[in-house]
Amino acid sequence: MNKQEYIESAEQELLHTYNRFSLVLDHGKGVYLYDTDGKEYLDFAAGIAVCAFGYGNEEYGNVLKSQVDKLLHTSNLYYNVPTIEAAAKALEASEMDRIFFTNSGTEAIEGAIKAAKKYAYTRDGHAGHEIIAMQHSFHGRSIGALSVTGNAHYQEPFEPLMPGVKFAEFNNLDSVRALVNDKTCAIIMETVQGEGGIYPAEPEFIEGVRALCDENDILLILDEIQCGMGRTGKMFAWQNYGIKPDIMTCAKALGCGVPVGAFFMTQKVADKSLEPGDHGTTYGGNPFVGAAVSTVFDLFKKNKVLENVNVVAPYLEQKLDELVEKYDFLTARRGKGFMQGVVSTLPVGKVSAKALEHGLIVITAGADVLRFVPPLIIEKKHVDEMLEKLEAALLDVEAEE
Ligand SMILES: *Cc1c(COP(=O)(O)O)cnc(C)c1O
Repeated sequence: MNKQEYIESAEQELLHTYNRFSLVLDHGKGVYLYDTDGKEYLDFAAGIAVCAFGYGNEEYGNVLKSQVDKLLHTSNLYYNVPTIEAAAKALEASEMDRIFFTNSGTEAIEGAIKAAKKYAYTRDGHAGHEIIAMQHSFHGRSIGALSVTGNAHYQEPFEPLMPGVKFAEFNNLDSVRALVNDKTCAIIMETVQGEGGIYPAEPEFIEGVRALCDENDILLILDEIQCGMGRTGKMFAWQNYGIKPDIMTCAKALGCGVPVGAFFMTQKVADKSLEPGDHGTTYGGNPFVGAAVSTVFDLFKKNKVLENVNVVAPYLEQKLDELVEKYDFLTARRGKGFMQGVVSTLPVGKVSAKALEHGLIVITAGADVLRFVPPLIIEKKHVDEMLEKLEAALLDVEAEE
């Protein structure tokens, strides 16, 4: 089949929940992807902040291949070595005490919500607690995760959702404080809002929320699914601030392409939280994903991935700032490390599509933001190449508007 036939076939078969770009990807190498026609694309999306090592990392691939031959799955009724090792490495990197592996980010959010509810239930001797979430947040599409996702458009057709969720304004401490009452069990937010348009938490805000939680025995849940795993130059984005969450969620680059998520908690939470019978998963933390996660943490260290982010990200910021300065149709840059957003008055979806013609993969966030979440291994030369291609795409779209 040729590309057009593949696309037509897909549109007959797959439920139409995405308006996909006309691109059939075939293979990848380093920070480049190739479509079925052999056309090359510089990738600044990394499968939505997933492929931290880019494509075709040999060491990673070899570990996965040998684990496939050895043992894929056992269920959680038994222990397995790769997952025990993965847990130890994840806990060391996160400064947390307990971890539960899931199959996705959404499921990590579900687990985090249940853990917080159970903590408050144990503490107070009754159920009926509330959660404060943020406007313009994104935590996933299941009913629980959707209930804490501050996007009316995503929520509306599926109401009624989980009750007891209130929405505050991100980076507005007073708006959070105003919603706290004696039923509040948790405040959930992304450390850097992703889908909502790349908004990092301001230090005073996250410190203030932490203090509010401490004063009222409320749990702070930080969603690090997109901003975690080195993307901001620290292993987890909250490590840029002087605070620590009680519960944290992670996914996306945790498996670098192998579907896995996790929720983490401190021992204080674990002591009053989920017990045998409260939560479970068939696949979660099986030997295959255990080997994947364990090797991801090894390769972060061995390949000095954080060091690379901290060297190359300031260059990316500087170059994006120069671009924003140069063009009236670009109005702002926001972000941290390799999680950057540029606000544009041009239709950003068209810019994304046009960038493909120029051999660049770049995605959007919200209605007016171009999002840059490249593999964490990009070099300065890739930033230069990206800017050249992006500029060409921007000027094409401007000319067409
Ligand atoms: C992607 C994402 C999720 C959902 O993760 P899935 O693996 O798609 O279920 C949740 N929260 C944030 C911040 C995300 O970026």
